[in-house]
Amino acid sequence: MSGTSEGPAPAADLDRSAVTESDIKTSPRTEPRTDSCTEPRTEQLTYRSAFAAAPIAMAVVDREGVVVGANSALGDLLGATPEELGGSVAADLVDLTSDARTWHAYREVLRGRQAKLRCTRRLKHPDGHSLWAQITVAPLPDEEPGVLLSVADISARRELQARLRHLQMHDPVTRLPNRTLFFERLSTALEAESYEQSGTGRIGLCYLDLDGFQAVNDTLGHRVGDRLLAAVAERLTRCADEAGYGRASAPLVARLGGDEFALLVEDSTGTEQLADLAESVLKAVQAPFDISGQRLSVSASIGVVERQAEGTSATGLMQAADTTLYWAKADGKDRWTLFDPERNAHRMTRQALASTLRPAIERGEFRLEYQPLVCMEDGRLRGVEALVRWNHPQFGVLTPNRFIGLAEEDGSIVPLGRWVLATACRQARQWQLDHPEEPPIFVSVNVAVRQVWDSDLVADVAEILAETGLAPHLLQLELTESAVMGSAGRPLQALQALSDMGVGIAIDDFGTGYSNLAYLSRLPVSVLKLDGSFVRGFQYEGEGVPPNPADEVVVEAMIQLAHRLGLTVTAECVETSAQASRLRRIGCDTGQGWLYSRPVPPDRISGLMGARV
Ligand code: C2E
Ligand code: MG
Ligand code: MG
Repeated sequence: MSGTSEGPAPAADLDRSAVTESDIKTSPRTEPRTDSCTEPRTEQLTYRSAFAAAPIAMAVVDREGVVVGANSALGDLLGATPEELGGSVAADLVDLTSDARTWHAYREVLRGRQAKLRCTRRLKHPDGHSLWAQITVAPLPDEEPGVLLSVADISARRELQARLRHLQMHDPVTRLPNRTLFFERLSTALEAESYEQSGTGRIGLCYLDLDGFQAVNDTLGHRVGDRLLAAVAERLTRCADEAGYGRASAPLVARLGGDEFALLVEDSTGTEQLADLAESVLKAVQAPFDISGQRLSVSASIGVVERQAEGTSATGLMQAADTTLYWAKADGKDRWTLFDPERNAHRMTRQALASTLRPAIERGEFRLEYQPLVCMEDGRLRGVEALVRWNHPQFGVLTPNRFIGLAEEDGSIVPLGRWVLATACRQARQWQLDHPEEPPIFVSVNVAVRQVWDSDLVADVAEILAETGLAPHLLQLELTESAVMGSAGRPLQALQALSDMGVGIAIDDFGTGYSNLAYLSRLPVSVLKLDGSFVRGFQYEGEGVPPNPADEVVVEAMIQLAHRLGLTVTAECVETSAQASRLRRIGCDTGQGWLYSRPVPPDRISGLMGARV
């Protein structure tokens, strides 16, 4: 018997080991201390036969490390007779030399400088089978010059432990490594010792989710669902095996739960390798499955992340994979998507913005700019549109497109909208007070649909007008087509009440939605703001490119109809004088756009009052 890593066979030294039980008996080393011969001798004999017959495998080893005596249990374990074992080097018998620490500890025990050594060894029996042994070396009482070596066969326990571990670490449905094992492997792969030894120092992950799996489960039952998962697992394993050809190892395939799987490439060579793997997985899953006599088609969405192992954490990698998988789904499923740091930064910014919106209102991080609304007939300033900006301490000045949507989603548009309304009205009143000689200008404020639904807009407006002293006809509210279309009940009542109060209602970005003018005319709406896309159709005139008559015909008809229905028309995004003159020609009432002015701070508006813009 010898250790798997070590081992001159003890049999070679048999001559030296001619230490038999009777030798031990008479050996001076083991002589009884007392003079009385008979009684202790009998006692000793009894101990010796107990030692010989004990079911625990044991050997007495002298200070030199040589077996002085061994019992039958040890002989059985090591595949030799006790006689054969005597005289052999104990450390070789049970493989105590193969690792330096154990060897050192063992020698310390032999020298009496350490109390005990316990270690586990895998030993090979001469008949070929191997076993797990727990080896204990402990000194005999002081007066006995040597140590007691005992060996316990713990193979059964180890096997049970291994089986339990396998059960704990594998998924019963697919037999794949489960989440626990996957994270264990991932964490190990991300430890410096692992990737510094491995060739590439990179790591890659395909995180996959089946599209439409829930439907299979719901319609055909869990049993079919489970079989499908097992079949998918088989195909994934095949893909991983193929990817592993010619490389140090194949990717680890794991089931992370539900219909989620992961393929971990512990020694990635770059995104190309991961892209190839993802592509092959996608194809493998696309092929139909024959399960319980049914032909099932599913597809997969895969998030692919590939990066340097250094500085990567398991959670960081998984979060990136999760986000990327979400993109793959959002982009239309049945595809793989590679992690994109820029897209992620955008997402993070969205999150960061969403979480700081409300406190930002309290901290006064918002301000308003005003863009002139100019009468097309005489070129004079009639009003201004209030446009909100966020002076973000981290991201700089943000335009509303970055945060209005978020504010609508989380409801912070209500307090923000109230602030905009109050600020704009106060400002409009201020201009009026500052320029009593000029006709007053109105202020047009954008209102999100949620403000109409989730707050008492009518009460807010009434209160703000009363507080600021602004006349209702100097306030206009801009709502989008989709916000007012089909509106009944509360929003319609609100619009009616505001209109009755004398407040103007404008339809913003008109033409981008349903464009049902006849319907709009039945609502308390007074102004149409023609979307910039119509005006853009005019842009080539004067540059040698013939104008697009279709656009002009459409816009002209629209303006005429609006007038007949009692609405006035404002054109957005007027950028050139050519556009302005054509709009004027076809009857547009008011213009807004860079031709006149960009959105500006309030003091710049003061300078424009009374002048031709
Ligand atoms: P909108 O109400 O259609 O506002 C006009 C947008 O067009 C403004 O963008 C303005 O800067 C831009 N614009 C003006 N003239 C021109 C031009 O000649 N050419 C081009 N290309 N663009 C021009 P801004 O300020 O980024 O606002 C975007 C949108 O955000 C607004 O579109 C409005 O829907 C929304 N918004 C702005 N302020 C508020 C607010 O206080 N509350 C709510 N609910 N929404 C707001
Ligand atoms: Mg607007
Ligand atoms: Mg608009």
